[in-house]
Amino acid sequence: MTFQICYRKIRVQVEGTRPTRCAACAAQGRIEMHHWKYAYTTEQVRKNPQLALENTIPFCYQCHKLADAIRNLMRDRFRFNQVMVALSYAAIQKRKGELNV
Ligand SMILES: [Zn+2]
Repeated sequence: MTFQICYRKIRVQVEGTRPTRCAACAAQGRIEMHHWKYAYTTEQVRKNPQLALENTIPFCYQCHKLADAIRNLMRDRFRFNQVMVALSYAAIQKRKGELNV
């Protein structure tokens, strides 16, 4: 059995069976392989497609979108910190409003 998997911008055919359950929310159905890390170049993966299975976790469509967003935020440390500061500030303002101070 083989199934198709995306790696960066390419698609490759890998040996094995596609998982049927999301590792995050346990949903069943169409499952995608999320790469939490891209350790290889697309050239390396074209030559040895099985490498595309490394550093993956099975997610449903929604969880995959969320995981990609988190990965992209983590990649850009400065932006990640800005987002965290903004969220903390918003939480403090909300709390101040609730406490009326
Ligand atoms: Zn899910």
